[in-house]
Amino acid sequence: MTKPDILAVGSYAEYDQVPMDNAFTVWSMDEGGTPDHLPEDALASIRAIAFRGHSFLGDEIMDRFPNLGMIANLGVGYDTIDVAHAVSRGILVSNTPDVLTEDVADLGVGMMIAWSRGIPGAQGWIRSGDWTQHGEYRLQRKVSGKRVGIVGLGRIGRALAERLVPFNIDVSYFSRSEKDTPRWTYFSDISAMAEHVDVLFVCISGGPATAGIVGAETLAALGPDGLLVNISRGTTVDEAALLNALENCQVAGAALDVFLNEPNIDPRFLQLDNVLLQPHQSSGTIETRTAMGALQRENLAAFFAGRSLVTPVPECA
Ligand code: NAP
Repeated sequence: MTKPDILAVGSYAEYDQVPMDNAFTVWSMDEGGTPDHLPEDALASIRAIAFRGHSFLGDEIMDRFPNLGMIANLGVGYDTIDVAHAVSRGILVSNTPDVLTEDVADLGVGMMIAWSRGIPGAQGWIRSGDWTQHGEYRLQRKVSGKRVGIVGLGRIGRALAERLVPFNIDVSYFSRSEKDTPRWTYFSDISAMAEHVDVLFVCISGGPATAGIVGAETLAALGPDGLLVNISRGTTVDEAALLNALENCQVAGAALDVFLNEPNIDPRFLQLDNVLLQPHQSSGTIETRTAMGALQRENLAAFFAGRSLVTPVPECA
């Protein structure tokens, strides 16, 4: 049987590439690249894109494929895909929700603890010989019993909140609407919540609607004892305001998994000792990346079989 043609954007690990090659005729394009290298008949025969990465996928690329019917995103966040254009052309878009929620929440808690207890620096204290020469490491900040505010109580925000409860942490959240969560305090204003908490987590979707939603005012409200943890997208925090606040100790620090211009992040972050930096790896476990790839392929298979997508994005549901 002839295998359907797809375009794979971005680099795929062998555990994804092999099953993709088994099911489809796979044409490849670099993340952020163009399809200029593809022959005309491939441009015409490709009906789906397996998309991986954080480059922009807009009309310029989509419209090179006259028979494109579907884009399967590897990841829950699809803020760099021009879904409005896809919808206008009748192109379906899927993502990979749920399968990564636990990992992202786990890393968020881990980053909060690692920053607060100074885990990376404390290990350096041993490796450098400072422990033997200078004695015990400087005292750090307690985690249990603190007040945490979560910007965006979606799947990841909720999973994070559930993980914080056993730490006797007082949970608040900001969302566009109040949720049925009697244990947690709702704020309709992010800065008011920031003023109320010790740690502010950003778990909201990226994209133009939420760009810079955590800005200078919110950081000032969080204050010089406050920690910002961003596990959403670099766009959701006003990065210029954050760097300014960090450099001037207007916030205590930040634990960041996401940035603008990844992987070429602003070098000012590297000069700071009040930050914990992670290379956008919240879903980066073998188990979760395997599950994400499988779900991406299930969506592709459903499209080619003429079935409903397994996990369409809300705009295409
Ligand atoms: P989700 O269940 O769809 O939750 C999204 C949250 O964002 C909801 O709380 C929603 O608020 C809020 N939101 C969306 N658009 C908004 C807007 N225009 N204004 C205000 N609030 C808005 O998504 P999820 O599965 O929790 O994932 C959340 C995000 O995490 C993803 O979009 C992705 O960017 C990021 N993520 C990062 C990594 C990483 O590696 N660091 C991995 C996975 C995901 P309402 O409740 O008001 O609708």
